[in-house]
Amino acid sequence: MSHSRLTDTYPKRLSWHEYFMSVAHLISQRATCKRAHIGAVIVRDNNILATGYNGAPTGLPHCTDENCIIYTSTHPDGTVEENCMNTIHAEMNAIIQAAKHGVSIKDSEIYITASPCINCLKALLNAGIKTIYYDKPYKIEHISKILALSETRLIQIQPENLTIKRSG
Ligand SMILES: [Zn+2]
Ligand SMILES: [Zn+2]
Repeated sequence: MSHSRLTDTYPKRLSWHEYFMSVAHLISQRATCKRAHIGAVIVRDNNILATGYNGAPTGLPHCTDENCIIYTSTHPDGTVEENCMNTIHAEMNAIIQAAKHGVSIKDSEIYITASPCINCLKALLNAGIKTIYYDKPYKIEHISKILALSETRLIQIQPENLTIKRSG
């Protein structure tokens, strides 16, 4: 009997990008805000340091029709956007998790299922995140000016070989 090769038995081995973006999509399934399900994974040297998804602060009510607190804000370019005041974004929660457990995230990378909003981007810059990998673009034009002035890189990766289906 011949030995079957690894590839006969298992699907193709995931690349690191596929692996971490798959993890980010899996984590997004824990999100509780009805408006968006986002997942984030902070990584250094191919090790996961912290994770986050968007949702209400610990112990506070999850978003429901009553609890989603929608507010609108107007960007300087005139575009109006809606956000939920009840939730903390996935990237913020990943930074908070690292702080809570005393994990340094300086010079790390983050995988997010969607590109960060301007507030999360500013926090990621100050946390020392050097590369932001995202899957779905979200109002990139709002963060392009800050990005151009920073050393942090924003790179879209949309791996075909995700182990988990994209949600939303
Ligand atoms: Zn909400
Ligand atoms: Zn955000």
